[in-house]
Amino acid sequence: MARDFAAKKIAPHVMEWDESQEFPAELFHQMGQLGLMGILVPEEYGGAGLTYKEYVAALQEISKVCGGIGLSMAAHNSLCTGHILHFGNEEQKQKYLPKLATGQWIGAWGLTEPNTGSDAANMKCTAVRDGDNWVINGTKNWITHGRSGHVAVLIARTGEPGGKDNATAFIIERGTPGFTGGKKENKLGMRASETAEMIFDNCIIPDSNRMGQVGSGFRQAMKVLDGGRISIAALSLGIAKGAYQAALKYSKERHQFGQPISSFQGISFKLADMATEIMAAELLTIQAAEMKDNGVPMTLQAAMAKYYASEQAVKVSNEAVQIFGGYGYTKDFPVEKFYRDSKLCTIGEGTSEIQKIVIAREVLKNV
Ligand SMILES: Cc1cc2nc3c(=O)[nH]c(=O)nc-3n(C[C@H](O)[C@H](O)[C@H](O)COP(=O)(O)OP(=O)(O)OC[C@H]3O[C@@H](n4cnc5c(N)ncnc54)[C@H](O)[C@@H]3O)c2cc1C
Repeated sequence: MARDFAAKKIAPHVMEWDESQEFPAELFHQMGQLGLMGILVPEEYGGAGLTYKEYVAALQEISKVCGGIGLSMAAHNSLCTGHILHFGNEEQKQKYLPKLATGQWIGAWGLTEPNTGSDAANMKCTAVRDGDNWVINGTKNWITHGRSGHVAVLIARTGEPGGKDNATAFIIERGTPGFTGGKKENKLGMRASETAEMIFDNCIIPDSNRMGQVGSGFRQAMKVLDGGRISIAALSLGIAKGAYQAALKYSKERHQFGQPISSFQGISFKLADMATEIMAAELLTIQAAEMKDNGVPMTLQAAMAKYYASEQAVKVSNEAVQIFGGYGYTKDFPVEKFYRDSKLCTIGEGTSEIQKIVIAREVLKNV
């Protein structure tokens, strides 16, 4: 179903959305009707009630056609919706999940700030208690759906700077006075996905919008990112497969020196490497998804899958452009877009360097 939807509803518009950097909000409402915006949400809250493994499969199919749509689908499902699903109380789940899972509302998730990306625990955006309310001040940067999201999960500092357990998670609806969308980024790739600032200026929200204990926000965010990283691995895999399949086909069609370029070992060995790297990335991703589905701790496996799959997406799409030669450098063929889109995967939801820090910490933990 996801493959069919991508072919019919996404493929015809891919370059139009990329060129204009348009965020096609209506598409996400349609995806919601098919269950693609609440894949992991139980049916009782209006979701599809599927597993992480099925989520990985669907996300790959969308990302094979457009990484930007895949990124928005991943951020909505794993970050905003996933956070409320795991850490919201019953009232919050009843209120927000049905709207998010059906795509009626689009979700955003704000952790990153202008001066704190990898070092997210050092956040400056504050939430200060005032009776039954919280007053929020600060800016979140690089937020997927920062302008168009109907609701956002926000991680804000509620304790001393540099202190332990000093952040808390909140749910904030668009339209709350003092909450506005800021600058929209003009990006290299993933251009159909909206990336923008969220600005809070004396924004007052009730304590009932808080998720979990005061001070538990950063720990919640790290748990959400464990799942989110599997989705970025799936996004990477979709991009790598899209680029590989286009290059494979082209290598048999394009003739030089009187023969298809696939008959040159220099080209066929590239295809062999690409196929092997994709398979390895897929097995790592499926392993992490299965562990998540079985409730087994998978911080290590999610970081490995995200790190490896994203680096391979960049490598595979680079080789795909090479196989297309000069044609690959133009917008008449799909591979230049895969190449541009792939680079985000080594940056978003923790850079490759941060994944290596996580992996090293995990492997050294019990030595
Ligand atoms: C398209 C897009 C969508 C995004 N969507 C969201 C979103 O929805 N919500 C959200 O909260 N954030 C989002 N982000 C933010 C993203 O998670 C951050 O960009 C990312 O975590 C990196 O932070 P930074 O950009 O500040 O880079 P920095 O942290 O400044 O890193 C710069 C460089 O230094 C390296 N570095 C940093 N610390 C170390 C270290 N200790 N050791 C070795 N190297 C290090 C990094 O790996 C990187 O190479 C998005 C970003 C993009 C580009």
